[in-house]
Amino acid sequence: MTTIVVVGASLAGTQAAQAMRRAGFDGRLVMVGAEPHYPYDRPPLSKSYLVDAEVDEERLRLRPTVDPDVLAADWRLGRRAVALDDQRSVVELDDGEQLGYDGLVIATGARPRRLPMADPPTDGVFELRTLDDARALRAALAAGPTRVAVCGAGFIGAEVAASARERGLEVTLVDAADAPLDRVLDTEAGLAVADLHRDHGVDVRLGVGVADIDRSGPRVDGMVLSDGSIVAAEVVVVGIGVVPNTEWLSSSTLTIDDGIVADETCLAAPGIVVAGDVARWPNPRFGGRSMRVEQWDNAIDMGGYAGRRLLAALDGGRVEPFEPTPWFWSDQYDRKIQLAGVVGERREVVQGSVAERRFVQIYGDGTGRLTGALCWNRPRQAIMARQLVTDGETMDAARTKLA
Ligand SMILES: Cc1cc2nc3c(=O)[nH]c(=O)nc-3n(C[C@H](O)[C@H](O)[C@H](O)COP(=O)(O)OP(=O)(O)OC[C@H]3O[C@@H](n4cnc5c(N)ncnc54)[C@H](O)[C@@H]3O)c2cc1C
Repeated sequence: MTTIVVVGASLAGTQAAQAMRRAGFDGRLVMVGAEPHYPYDRPPLSKSYLVDAEVDEERLRLRPTVDPDVLAADWRLGRRAVALDDQRSVVELDDGEQLGYDGLVIATGARPRRLPMADPPTDGVFELRTLDDARALRAALAAGPTRVAVCGAGFIGAEVAASARERGLEVTLVDAADAPLDRVLDTEAGLAVADLHRDHGVDVRLGVGVADIDRSGPRVDGMVLSDGSIVAAEVVVVGIGVVPNTEWLSSSTLTIDDGIVADETCLAAPGIVVAGDVARWPNPRFGGRSMRVEQWDNAIDMGGYAGRRLLAALDGGRVEPFEPTPWFWSDQYDRKIQLAGVVGERREVVQGSVAERRFVQIYGDGTGRLTGALCWNRPRQAIMARQLVTDGETMDAARTKLA
């Protein structure tokens, strides 16, 4: 019987498994997940789950595994893959079990990057990636602190800041960059995020790093910033980006370069596909640009694609390349921020205004081709924009259609 092992039992891994079952794969499917939980959805963890005690964990369960029997898989939860021998096609788990495979899906995602002085984060310092992280942070926010300090104004930090404000807490949001979200947005759009937080009473400090965690006793007192100032807080949250989980592959022949490097069909080696936050591949839609996308939609699309790709590889079949238009959203206060595609060197607001915090801004490359669109509280235009990028439209066409 053919055996397929999926390492990483979260969004991308379960999508791959589901796609393979749907395509008729009736062999043995083994799902290995380091967390003890059945797969669940992460986006609510920084949003409703932190604010609303009524959001119960059952509702976070990912669809295909609400009933885990649906996948007819052999689950290995709370078990970590520690090595891959891709020459012998064997995955080794932390309890010594050797799992032989005919096909392998790697979807081990990413983990929070840590501050050297808070590694691991303890006693009032928190990070947020897993359900267990969110449980701990939610309990700390519910325990009645007055002040929360957030290090890092990326999406996780910004959403945690918004959630803490919604709980009525005093919040300071600190980032070493000149604008929030500087890895994904242009500076002006990032500054609009800063203003959004200021509107809601957050003390936003930009262009200043965190030099240390301030502790006089066992518990945290706040953060010491690189300009010498101190931000007092009973709860400190660190959200400074993520690191792909690839260390367990060091003994394999796979290429690792800030993620596992795959070809344009997500194949990393014969019989091995990769998907989700851990995967890097050249996206033909953007001229073969090497991408590693840390977004929910991508994990869904790439997981499903990778599952079908693996079956094709096992059957000797061919597939089209994986060439999605990336897409993400972030909810902060009453704003839905959506980016379809990617930021480009040209940009133009074609509807609304940044000052109103309700707008559509399109991006293009040097030739005037549309690369993406940023939409604030404009969900319909965001969907249209994604299609326009996928269709290879120009900025001129997008200006007319999205205005
Ligand atoms: C709090 C939060 C909010 C988010 N909000 C948004 C949002 O609003 N919009 C958006 O687009 N995206 C959002 N995201 C991002 C989105 O959730 C991720 O892109 C998505 O979870 C990636 O899925 P994945 O399956 O690739 O990886 P992950 O979800 O990281 O799962 C990887 C799994 O592999 C396991 N694993 C790792 N190493 C091993 C190993 N050696 N052996 C076995 N198992 C292993 C991990 O424990 C984990 O369970 C958010 C993420 C977080 C954390």
